[in-house]
Amino acid sequence: MSKKKQFVEEITSMDQDFAKWYTDVVKKADLVDYGPVRGSMIIRPYGYAIWENIRDVLDKKIKDTGHENVYMPLFIPESLLQKEKDHIEGFAPEVAWVTHGGSEELAERLCVRPTSEVLFCEHYKDIIHSYRDLPKLYNQWSNVVRWEKTTRPFLRSLEFLWQEGHTCHATKTEAEEETYKMLEVYASVCEDYLAIPVLKGKKTEKEKFAGADFTLTIESMMHDGKALQSGTSHYLGTGFAEAFGIQYTDQDGELKHVHQTSWGFTTRLIGAIIMVHGDDRGLVVPPKVAPTQVMIVPIAQHKEGVLDKAYELKEQLSNQFRVGIDASDKMPGWKFNEYEMKGIPLRIEIGPKDIEKNQAVLVRRDTGEKVFVDLNDLESEITSTLEDIQQELFQKALNNRETKTSVAINMGEFEDALTRDGGGFVKAMWCGKLECEEKIKEETGATSRCIPFEEDKLADNCVSCNEQAKHLVYWGKAY
Ligand SMILES: [Zn+2]
Repeated sequence: MSKKKQFVEEITSMDQDFAKWYTDVVKKADLVDYGPVRGSMIIRPYGYAIWENIRDVLDKKIKDTGHENVYMPLFIPESLLQKEKDHIEGFAPEVAWVTHGGSEELAERLCVRPTSEVLFCEHYKDIIHSYRDLPKLYNQWSNVVRWEKTTRPFLRSLEFLWQEGHTCHATKTEAEEETYKMLEVYASVCEDYLAIPVLKGKKTEKEKFAGADFTLTIESMMHDGKALQSGTSHYLGTGFAEAFGIQYTDQDGELKHVHQTSWGFTTRLIGAIIMVHGDDRGLVVPPKVAPTQVMIVPIAQHKEGVLDKAYELKEQLSNQFRVGIDASDKMPGWKFNEYEMKGIPLRIEIGPKDIEKNQAVLVRRDTGEKVFVDLNDLESEITSTLEDIQQELFQKALNNRETKTSVAINMGEFEDALTRDGGGFVKAMWCGKLECEEKIKEETGATSRCIPFEEDKLADNCVSCNEQAKHLVYWGKAY
């Protein structure tokens, strides 16, 4: 009992205050610390290690689909940012400006990149001349700055890490295919590695990227029923190419504008891991991206042979898994709490009695289930348990999403659904008019998340104005 009490003092319960629970986990699991500028974050080694694992998986997929990594400068001259009108209008409110170099005022303000479309375009204009130069498939890993008013670690911070892909193609068809292909890559990282089920769809005109023809998105649902936009892929059409003069001579000798895409995936996915899988004991990290998959905690480690055996196990298991050991003089109970807070998928306890019986205790972070395992079977047991955890986390998240997804035919049902589940997705028909979308947001606080790739027809008429419906839309309150 005393252990439980101690633990309750440490972290707010999710049901009591989800937002407070989130910041408690972020701090106690040692993922981030707050930077000296309001809204900036220091990503601590444990948080960064999770990011590195996500990055490695995604980077491989980006390269496997034919892209090359490059690096663009941090600063954008104001005149360059002004070139594409919709783009600057969308980003202007969040831009940070550099006005001085040393003590000298600059002749032209420099923007700290909020995204790098214009930098890539300026470069593409110089390097693309002929159809032989296409496609150009570039990606960069970098930081970007967006001066957000309200901030939260990982979800919305002044500066975050991401990758941004920028590609140029000869034809619309090819560029559109690329847009869909990269969304699939993001969906697979989320579902197969982060164990987060996603909805795939298209953003409405109101919610699309500033300067894009259309934006594709993957949307995931957090434990509290709120949505998180988890990755976007944009077809930019020829708008940027026209503004920047990116032209190539085609096989027929004609001068044409390139068709472009851009797509991004960010550190906010760490926030998604926390909010999708976490519980009242802290973080739960899916095994495939866990920096440590198995933590060994020796029991009665002062007794002869215990530490030797524990280290022997670590060495043996390290061939196959990412393994840690805590042989510090802290109490085992403290260690259990600590590694549960950090969401390490599996814990191995080994003490004198276990050694005598040639066994160890295997404890799952997600279910708390404890089993005794013969040391000869340890590797195979760990392999299958990690797979189970990975799958069950996905299934649990999917169940949560399905339970908290409702259908609404009229606004009464719409509002009921949102109050009933404290959020959740509401599926409802929409006429396609901006006024209705804005009205729904004003009345309910829910925004359009996406028009799903697979649309079903729930009704003939728009949920808001009752006129002829054009699309099925997933609505929800979002982070
Ligand atoms: Zn309507």
